[in-house]
Amino acid sequence: MKNLIDRLYLKNDLSKNDYAELIRNHSDSDAEYLFSLSVKLREKYYGKDVYVRGLIEFSNYCKNNCLYCGIRRDNRNVQRYRLSKEDILTCCAEGYSLGFRTFVLQGGEDPYFTDDRICDIVYSIKQKYPDCAVTLSIGEKEYASYKAFFDAGADRYLLRHETADNSHYSKLHPPEMSLEHRKNCLYDLKNIGYQVGCGFMVGSPFQTAENLADDMIFIRELSPHMVGIGPFISQHDTPFADQKNGTLEQTLFMLGLIRLTLPNVLLPSTTALGTIHPMGREKGILAGANVVMPNLSPKSVRDKYLLYDNKICTGDEAAECKHCLQMRMKSIGYNIVTSRGDCKSIKEIYQNEF
Ligand code: SAH
Repeated sequence: MKNLIDRLYLKNDLSKNDYAELIRNHSDSDAEYLFSLSVKLREKYYGKDVYVRGLIEFSNYCKNNCLYCGIRRDNRNVQRYRLSKEDILTCCAEGYSLGFRTFVLQGGEDPYFTDDRICDIVYSIKQKYPDCAVTLSIGEKEYASYKAFFDAGADRYLLRHETADNSHYSKLHPPEMSLEHRKNCLYDLKNIGYQVGCGFMVGSPFQTAENLADDMIFIRELSPHMVGIGPFISQHDTPFADQKNGTLEQTLFMLGLIRLTLPNVLLPSTTALGTIHPMGREKGILAGANVVMPNLSPKSVRDKYLLYDNKICTGDEAAECKHCLQMRMKSIGYNIVTSRGDCKSIKEIYQNEF
């Protein structure tokens, strides 16, 4: 296996079969070897810096019915909420004073938030905090909507592709959703000029090593600025209530593979990873991740944005989350930094070397 890892590191030309082989058959020592290289690359680009994003979960209304997701339309046991523009701006004010320079607005696909409303919110945030980046994570939209958000000032967009295999996609989603449409959205976002993030769940129901290999090939082809991955975690009111969770081990391995495939990518160590293991987020950083996304949502709504069971940090204030993550990162020799935390270009690094 080590020869495949070396080839990925030196040439970055693995085939789908190579990836699948690595994903299926690696040993613990192969994983350690992978992490030694992924950390080396991560440090070459980002040193010991960890970027923070303040996550504002502004609506849990959703018109979609994804089989894995706790806020899916058919879940009648969710107490639905949406934040007002003023609530959102209050979150940003608190976040700004805590040193956040990126705000991520995430929500279900909530028709109440029309393009005009989203544009107004984005514009207001950018007016008040011109030195901050605004990231949207609000699902699949038309090109014209994405363009309008961008023109209003949005900098980045997160839209996990969820799986790059058609038949697997159809097992995770209702028939009215398609992988083709989701991929087209990602290409539209890129063309408009966003910094784009795709991603997937590790260990989602019916996922095979080949599916994960397809994810790697898709990621290499799209070449996004960010990749968000985390373990699948079952939610008790979804059709996948009884499905097994993804594992820490496999999620870390995929983080390592992504770092080697896209060396300068922004790679979060996610809340889901922290949910399946008490040291999950630290281990994610030590596998090559360089971003954490503490929650900035008001405490009153924290326990209502439950995509999966046992989500951590639902009882904490934003300041506590920031402080806790700061300590955690320090404990492994990394530092949370106050900056927008943009993706560094390969050219930039190259120039610094000479
Ligand atoms: N509506 C937005 C935001 C979705 S929530 C959108 O469509 O992009 C953000 C991510 O949470 C999803 O993309 C999915 O990958 C992840 N997620 C949802 N349910 C999950 C679960 N049960 N376990 C782990 N991750 C989950």
